[in-house]
Amino acid sequence: MIKTDKRPQYDAHTLRRIYLGTDGCCHICRRKLILEHYARPGIEGAWEVERLVPSQDGGNAHMDNLKPACTLCSLEHGAARPPQFGAKTGSAR
Ligand SMILES: [Zn+2]
Repeated sequence: MIKTDKRPQYDAHTLRRIYLGTDGCCHICRRKLILEHYARPGIEGAWEVERLVPSQDGGNAHMDNLKPACTLCSLEHGAARPPQFGAKTGSAR
């Protein structure tokens, strides 16, 4: 099998529990989501699973830490993360 997607895989049962945890709404903007449209950006009701606490901050894959977010909020959240600047800029001339 070839894995091209870095997104963690959730089985249908877990996805349903995450989805029902917020009554099928985005946990950020409360937009109505469609369970079957998980990970299908660009269509109505598409959503992603978000970790409230990122794994690098000690967050885990427990249900309490997983919330459904519409793809728009998910993207904004991802973009809101501070960029990682290395110690070296390497641009001295
Ligand atoms: Zn949203």
